[in-house]
Amino acid sequence: SNDYRVVVFGAGGVGKSSLVLRFVKGTFRESYIPTIEDTYRQGHAFILVYSVTSRQSLEELRPIWDAIKETKGAELEGIPVMLVGNKCDEGGEDGAGGAREVRPEEGEAEAQRWGCKFMETSAKTNHNVKELFQELLNMEKNRNISL
Ligand code: GDP
Ligand code: MG
Repeated sequence: SNDYRVVVFGAGGVGKSSLVLRFVKGTFRESYIPTIEDTYRQGHAFILVYSVTSRQSLEELRPIWDAIKETKGAELEGIPVMLVGNKCDEGGEDGAGGAREVRPEEGEAEAQRWGCKFMETSAKTNHNVKELFQELLNMEKNRNISL
């Protein structure tokens, strides 16, 4: 089939729905409408989202990452995975006067441990949203070239 499934994981409230809504419809909502996510792992690509305003949301991704690794095993080599720090519009880089709890370098270091790519985004300001999905597709293309 021509379906391309991108599975988005992350704690409640980190902005998963907002990133998808921003990418697909170009819109953003301030109100939070909790969604029941299915924990279905049949993905062609994975986006693991935390909020830069919540260290806990990054910590909550670790067991999810371990479960993906365990489920996919060697197959994971060919699957694009991106660690995403969303809500980068919240607070300055140093957290001064802002709500930031996770610095970009910490996200980058985590991604290096996991062997995946990293990006900070904002569904609110539309920062790096197109780039996120584009980069996943680029990772896919690179895989095909190397086959
Ligand atoms: P989900 O539970 O991961 O799907 O999170 P939602 O997409 O529903 O977003 C949760 C809340 O965070 C909502 O109130 C959104 O308006 C807000 N939100 C989502 N993305 C961003 C962002 O990039 N920046 C800011 N400041 N707020 C965001
Ligand atoms: Mg949601």
